[in-house]
Amino acid sequence: MAEMNPAWPASFSSHRYQALTDGPRLIVTGAVHGNETCGAVAIRRVMAQLEQGALRLVAGRLTLAPVVNPLAYQLGQRGAERNLNRNLAPTDSPQDYEDHVANWLCPLLAEHEVLLDLHSFQSPGQPFVFLGPRDNDGALEPFAHAAREEALARRLGVARAVDGWLATYALGVARRRQAPVGGARQQALNADARYGVGTTEYMRSQGGWALTLECGQHADPAAPDVAYRAIVNTLAHLGMIAAPDPAPRPLTLWSLYEVVDKQDDADRFARDWVSFDAVAKGERIGQRADGAAVCAPADARIVFPNPKAQAGQEWFYLARPSDRLQAMGGALA
Ligand SMILES: [Zn+2]
Repeated sequence: MAEMNPAWPASFSSHRYQALTDGPRLIVTGAVHGNETCGAVAIRRVMAQLEQGALRLVAGRLTLAPVVNPLAYQLGQRGAERNLNRNLAPTDSPQDYEDHVANWLCPLLAEHEVLLDLHSFQSPGQPFVFLGPRDNDGALEPFAHAAREEALARRLGVARAVDGWLATYALGVARRRQAPVGGARQQALNADARYGVGTTEYMRSQGGWALTLECGQHADPAAPDVAYRAIVNTLAHLGMIAAPDPAPRPLTLWSLYEVVDKQDDADRFARDWVSFDAVAKGERIGQRADGAAVCAPADARIVFPNPKAQAGQEWFYLARPSDRLQAMGGALA
């Protein structure tokens, strides 16, 4: 079991605001990935406004955690020793820094009913929101709050939504068990059934509901404003500040259905893909280290292409349009 290394940040931190009137229990998180700083900037802006009285909490409990992974944040990288937003669960025998973060974060999440988790992404593209599953009583991710997530997603100020996360990961995990890549610890993590469990999935497993907002490219100067607007709109929608519920806007929904791993560090893309680029059936997406072509199995959109992915980890995803939100007035992609 690994103790905390003396070179690591010595503590974790969150800030709690309690209104005089009961209401929702909301937690907003930033820098779950240490190089995604827009959420930290936006959360600190909200903290300053709460302290100055420019924002007034009128109901409920608000917990703000601007930097969830302080070591990765100090290092300016996605994770310190691994990706915190995978295999997220408390553990009695922490093996790496992210295990210590999880042991602080998971009980904190469980004290709340709603999570807004603020991220940014690698390649250029528009902001989008991750929805959880539809209501279901299946084994993978049973859920009963889809309507709440959809209603909030429509008010965050973005036009695009993505679902299908955990089911797509389950597919990737099943494949990795057949063809493991990497060292023993990495293999164990990559092939764990909980591999796809990050902050929002953990929140749902505890009876809550949650959205991940991807606010733009890491360095996009507009991303902190996207994050800030989403926090304020969430507070208004939940009745936690004295502001009208924002008008819902149409969302175009894409469902992830396929994940393709890098198998070798020398696997490479055929071109610089941008998230939501269209690919036609049979189109060459990239090639393996041995020269074998990786082609689209069907007409799709390519999502989260990551040329820097490590062997054994997700290289890109495929998504297709979903009519899930049409009943609520969403546009079909
Ligand atoms: Zn992220």
